[in-house]
Amino acid sequence: MADDEALEAAVRRALGSVIDPEIRKPITELDMVPGVSVQGGQVTVDLRLTVAGCPAAVSIERDVRTAASSVDGVSEVSVSVGVMDAATRDALTARLRGDRPSGHPFTADSLTRVIAVTSGKGGVGKSTITANLAVALAARGLSVGLVDADVFGFSIPGLLGIADAKPTPVGELIMPPRAHGVAVISIGMFVDARTAVSWRGPMLHRTVQQFLTDVHFGDLDVLLLDLPPGTGDVAISIGQLLPHADVIVVTTPQTAAADVAERSALVARQTGQNVIGVVENMSGLVQSDGSVLELFGSGGGADTAERLGVPLLAKIPLSVALREGGDAGEPIVLRPGDAAGDAIARLADELARRGRGLAGRKLGLSPR
Ligand code: ADP
Repeated sequence: MADDEALEAAVRRALGSVIDPEIRKPITELDMVPGVSVQGGQVTVDLRLTVAGCPAAVSIERDVRTAASSVDGVSEVSVSVGVMDAATRDALTARLRGDRPSGHPFTADSLTRVIAVTSGKGGVGKSTITANLAVALAARGLSVGLVDADVFGFSIPGLLGIADAKPTPVGELIMPPRAHGVAVISIGMFVDARTAVSWRGPMLHRTVQQFLTDVHFGDLDVLLLDLPPGTGDVAISIGQLLPHADVIVVTTPQTAAADVAERSALVARQTGQNVIGVVENMSGLVQSDGSVLELFGSGGGADTAERLGVPLLAKIPLSVALREGGDAGEPIVLRPGDAAGDAIARLADELARRGRGLAGRKLGLSPR
């Protein structure tokens, strides 16, 4: 009897190493193991999934078996899989949500750094850079979330190779799919790819707010936001919801684009956001003979940065490999050696370094 009790305690301890891949916490802390019974060396684990049809069910059950079997004295493991009742799930989601005020993305003392990436116009590579930057930051050991708020031109899931991924609702929370170490949520996961999204301001505002409040990102070091180009409703909503976000403006070397890039940055500033710098994308293409083809001219990034009085953070050259990586859902930053990928990696290094300098700074969300 005493042996059974000791074995049960050892099995429970072992189950503490099983992590729910979506919530990213031990299942024993998520009320997912209401019972462990032991008879001789035979162990039965009562496993309750958060939702029916949980996509992670197979891997969780496998990990439970492996963990329980690894305990000395266990000869046989059976796992009885069920789904937690609504009351337990509600209590769990309330706990995960923590003490975030309703409608607010973060708790008041959150240290998550928010970086919104914006551009004056579409097609300048804003999403490509945001996706690569997110992956590069995650590869540096940071906990990274990415919100694709480009509601009309959502492309982040494809760029990260998870075009068909769907988030899992758990009670009132939404568990974001993960790709290359980044927790990702996109409007593209909620609508048919061929459906035109034609929402008006209030609907967009609610959607963005829901992304920020109901999606369970866990404790993030950095939350990146891919904003729609221009100065529209979403940019203004983000400004209201996250007035202390940092903003990076992406533009091309074409000096004619500097005007529109500057305008989108000024909107961010008006809502209290902090424009930290400009990234010039589609800079000169280095050719096989070593000469540089400036397809889109030169100087646009520096021009925009100067007008805004902020640094030019990076110049990312035109690159076939960067484009191909995006098309294939394999971000180029995962394969060092490409000039564009390496430039984004250096930008990630710079941002990761600055992030640490912010330790202890409060996000200071103002009540709306
Ligand atoms: P945006 O988000 O600004 O609309 P995208 O990231 O969708 O722009 O990029 C537009 C197109 O340009 C995509 O086909 C992308 O692969 C390509 N692209 C972006 N940056 C580069 C670059 N540095 N070199 C080559 N192609 C690029």
